[in-house]
Amino acid sequence: MAAQPDPLGLTQPAWEQLALEWGLPRYRGRQIFDWLHRRLVRDYDLASDLPAALRERLDRELPIRRPEILRRETSDDGSVKLGLGLADGALIEAVYMPGEARDSLANEFEDARAVPGEAAGGRREAKSMPLVPKFTICLSSQTGCAVDCAFCVTGRLGAGRNLSAGEILGQLQAVLREVDRTYEGMRLVFMGMGEPLLNLEGLLPALEILFEMVAPRRVTVSTSGITPALAKLAALPRRPNLAVSINAAEESIRTRLMPITRTYPLRELIAAMRAWPLEPRRRILVEYVLIAGVNDSVEDAARLSRLLRGLTAKINIIPLNEDATYLPGWKRPGEAGIDRFAKELVAAHWPVTVRRSRGPDAAAACGQLKGRTQDPRRARLTPASRS
Ligand code: SAH
Ligand code: SF4
Repeated sequence: MAAQPDPLGLTQPAWEQLALEWGLPRYRGRQIFDWLHRRLVRDYDLASDLPAALRERLDRELPIRRPEILRRETSDDGSVKLGLGLADGALIEAVYMPGEARDSLANEFEDARAVPGEAAGGRREAKSMPLVPKFTICLSSQTGCAVDCAFCVTGRLGAGRNLSAGEILGQLQAVLREVDRTYEGMRLVFMGMGEPLLNLEGLLPALEILFEMVAPRRVTVSTSGITPALAKLAALPRRPNLAVSINAAEESIRTRLMPITRTYPLRELIAAMRAWPLEPRRRILVEYVLIAGVNDSVEDAARLSRLLRGLTAKINIIPLNEDATYLPGWKRPGEAGIDRFAKELVAAHWPVTVRRSRGPDAAAACGQLKGRTQDPRRARLTPASRS
């Protein structure tokens, strides 16, 4: 593709290499990386310890282009859903969720130590309350999604293209600038538009860059279960938290909800999760979108519990965010149904959280991101027509 690299997507070693190629000392590369990522400067001009000639050359040969914020929707709880335009006109969405772990959506994305009722670690975290308020940013990894889950607005809109590492970092920087935050107190989740594990080309360098500023345990990658890519992620020396969208514990129900199950069966996915190397005090986050009459019975909960047996996991129940336009016929269970399902899992000793989307604010939830506003390209599939 483009001959010139995207400067925001260059890792620190890549900048050092470039410095050498330009006849400069290696440390110049590290300085540029510092300015762009650690110090988050808007452009090279502000990198005051670089020679003027170098700043000019960078400007000329490696211009910085961040996604542009085109839309903002603020919810009552302070969450902000942002619509961003990429250089080629493609649209993506990202969400900023402010607040402490206990009173915001961020709760669901905490690492295992923040799960109430858990052993040792929980108390330790509570003692060291940070001075800087926490927040979570939900990022997109693709401009659509080819995985085609039946309950997902992004999936209904069809495949998009991969975001480059530079676009992923640019997206993050644009959001941080918009909400006037730095990395302090930040949690990052790849739960926006797209399937991150179908974009390892963009994701892996983006993680390498991010981990220079942010501890891996503050970053979560959510996948629908692309098992070969999971194995590659597992082999990284520094790994993010893993979240897996299980959504159904029975092969045929899951295939109906997530046709990708035909390619990567549940059995294989669970095996890949068992093989995932967990650091101490971490857990795999199992996401389960709860849909009325589809996967929300007590038997479904018991099956899920059996399926996960032996895994170090916590379960995040996500009551379906309904969408009359894109997801006609799919319903979220009532509160009693959600409670019944959660209680069955709690009784089996799983750490469980329920993601509470608040009324009209639901559109800002991850997994509800569409980027564009036109109608779905493909035929709408209702629960009845898919069975
Ligand atoms: N593609 C990745 C990450 C993006 S989707 C994945 O599937 O994991 C992020 C989360 O949103 C997933 O757990 C997905 O199951 C959930 N989700 C998608 N559509 C949803 C909806 N309509 N209501 C609630 N959660 C939804
Ligand atoms: Fe893609 Fe995730 Fe939506 Fe499935 S739930 S269509 S994998 S974004």
